[in-house]
Amino acid sequence: MSSTASSKRVAVIGGGILGVSTAVHLLRQGASVVLLTERGLASEATGRSLSWLNSAGERSTPYHLLRLAGVDRYRTLFASDPGREWLQFGGGLMWNAAGQHAVTESRHAYEKSVGYDSKLLAPEEIAAVTPGIDSSAVPENAIFNPGEGWVSLPDLVDFLMDEFHARGGQLVLNAGKASVTVEDGRTTGVGTAGGETYAADAVLVACGAATPAVVAPLGVHIPNGSPVSMLVLTKPVDHDVRAVMNTPRAAVRPNPGNTFALDHDWYEEHITGHADGSFSIPDGVVQDLADEASKLIAGNPDLKPASWKIGYKPIPGDGEPVFGELGQVPGCFVAFTHSGATLGLIAGELLSGEIMTGNKHPMLATFRPGRFS
Ligand SMILES: Cc1cc2nc3c(=O)[nH]c(=O)nc-3n(C[C@H](O)[C@H](O)[C@H](O)COP(=O)(O)OP(=O)(O)OC[C@H]3O[C@@H](n4cnc5c(N)ncnc54)[C@H](O)[C@@H]3O)c2cc1C
Repeated sequence: MSSTASSKRVAVIGGGILGVSTAVHLLRQGASVVLLTERGLASEATGRSLSWLNSAGERSTPYHLLRLAGVDRYRTLFASDPGREWLQFGGGLMWNAAGQHAVTESRHAYEKSVGYDSKLLAPEEIAAVTPGIDSSAVPENAIFNPGEGWVSLPDLVDFLMDEFHARGGQLVLNAGKASVTVEDGRTTGVGTAGGETYAADAVLVACGAATPAVVAPLGVHIPNGSPVSMLVLTKPVDHDVRAVMNTPRAAVRPNPGNTFALDHDWYEEHITGHADGSFSIPDGVVQDLADEASKLIAGNPDLKPASWKIGYKPIPGDGEPVFGELGQVPGCFVAFTHSGATLGLIAGELLSGEIMTGNKHPMLATFRPGRFS
């Protein structure tokens, strides 16, 4: 990028998908961008996400529309090269526990009512729509959402960072806990834990679950509902699975290299938090999750965990995204959301537009941080 004296200087704090995506979108619009992050890129939620791309189930209409736009942007990226192993659209398959067929039917009816592609299937109908599933694990009925997909966020971050560097972005790794600097009530830039300062016309705080803590010194309150969760990556195994599965005992998605990514919440009580901020879980519980996943896959392969990561899953206190400029601190913007994988590309697009032009995008109207004031 040619960084001219007149280009807008923007500092982005946070090397997760929201920070990286917004940084790249800003560079595309001619901004001069510095991206600072505490340690490495994708070191937090982005590095341990199920990253199922969807708007399944029920939620507010603005959130649903934003998620549909999010999936749309991934479809555009997918169409530019369908051969990428880290971004695929194989649909999503979900089912509930035995005795809950009416809950599944009601979810399907809701999805149909908002135009979301949703097929209610008996177990024996699953093989005709998606391969590799052990349908004997499905107790009653299942929903197949053909339009859904998945992404491996660390690969997407690598992909976007190639463009970031090609366009002349400045990356500051190991910045420690950076903070927003303010003078006369207006954002002036970012200070790192080591005392370095980066002057900027605008700052984006995209610090995942740490976002409320980063804006708190500015007098801004954003409630934090982020739970602790785990993502397991398995060793490679032969399989034909293409869909992301959300089931009563395991969430499973294909992952590059013939591996699987596994997630759920029933094991949360087995997670121990330590004084240094790290978390641990007994190895046996991780294997139990892999065993639950194996039951869902045709042939019930012996799944072995290769690695697992535990940490906070960013979720704002009211469950809805928080996007936009802080009313109290002009020039300071935030991006803090659940489902940041689905929203990663669209949020970067819309927020960068707001930062560059000052024009507020109508799709973000209900997600402003000011709603907590
Ligand atoms: C187990 C799990 C499953 C998920 N499943 C899905 C799913 O199926 N679909 C979906 O859409 N989403 C899913 N998500 C959510 C999605 O992954 C996250 O919303 C998204 O990755 C968040 O990205 P982020 O950039 O906001 O935050 P993060 O990835 O957490 O990145 C924040 C970055 O900011 C840095 N940082 C924090 N504080 C500071 C500071 N003071 N100074 C400098 N740097 C700082 C951190 O080190 C980190 O690098 C899941 C998440 C998890 C954990």
